[in-house]
Amino acid sequence: MDIDGRKLSKKIKDQIKIKVEKLEKKPGLAVVLVGENSASQVYVRNKERACQKVGYYSRKINLPVETTQEELLNLIEELNNDELIHGILVQLPLPNHIDSEKIILTIDPKKDVDGFHALNMGNLLIGKKTIIPCTPKGIIELIKSTGIEISGKNAVVIGRSNIVGKPISLLLMKNNATITICHSKTLDLKKHCLNADIIVAAIGKPNFVTEDMVKKGCVVIDVGINRLDDGSLSGDVDYINVKNNSSYITPVPGGVGPMTIAMLMQNTLECYKEIEKLE
Ligand code: NDP
Repeated sequence: MDIDGRKLSKKIKDQIKIKVEKLEKKPGLAVVLVGENSASQVYVRNKERACQKVGYYSRKINLPVETTQEELLNLIEELNNDELIHGILVQLPLPNHIDSEKIILTIDPKKDVDGFHALNMGNLLIGKKTIIPCTPKGIIELIKSTGIEISGKNAVVIGRSNIVGKPISLLLMKNNATITICHSKTLDLKKHCLNADIIVAAIGKPNFVTEDMVKKGCVVIDVGINRLDDGSLSGDVDYINVKNNSSYITPVPGGVGPMTIAMLMQNTLECYKEIEKLE
């Protein structure tokens, strides 16, 4: 059965909208895009639309590809000090001449709506309350929406990136799953997958997870967004065939993607409350 990320995302955004209507000062999100990467432009547009839907003040800052690191650092400092802005998101990937890590470390951790700052990542690791990266946070919501208990399950995460693989592994562990983290050097990936009650695929390779790798009844979360030669989108999971084996599966598009945006809206509201000292 599909897990409908669009429906769940809409429900969450509707709830946020009701809260925002009651606020005199609106939460503000700044989204910074450097260059003209077409996928990034789509993501930024979707984030801007979501801000409009929930009633946030949104500021999109589109910089040319030749923007220097210093110029970008100065902009981040300005946004850090801007009282109208509660969340700062720098769309990745940045052009090669800019050090992404340095940029992320310059964002005020209180405004780090992506949860990528080392302080927030560190807090996630040691189990302290923090800003949780949007995609992993959305994945937990998607799994919970099925009613399936995470506690005690065997979860296999394929991919160990800082933005998806590592944080989702920590969150699944926090929810008492037993975690196996796989990557490009993993031997016999299929053996690990066949032992999984939950598979999270965050690889970036179309149709990588096939039916023979998935145990009957497994919950399959497909994080991948891969643009195929014909212009269509594909996940990392061979959706049509894996659907037969899985109990629940997220489609691409319409699964993890919309939830990432809903969680961005949620993180922005959380940053707002912290900064404005509400609740
Ligand atoms: P990265 O490229 O940073 O990481 C990919 C991971 O996959 C790496 O850890 C890599 O292993 C692993 N991998 C690559 N090949 C294999 C293989 N043959 N077997 C096992 N593991 C392998 O990607 P991201 O984590 O940033 O993103 C993953 C996918 O998710 C992409 O398609 C991206 O577009 C999508 N995405 C979607 C989002 C959404 O909102 N839906 C948000 C973020 C990402 P190693 O470390 O050994 O190289």
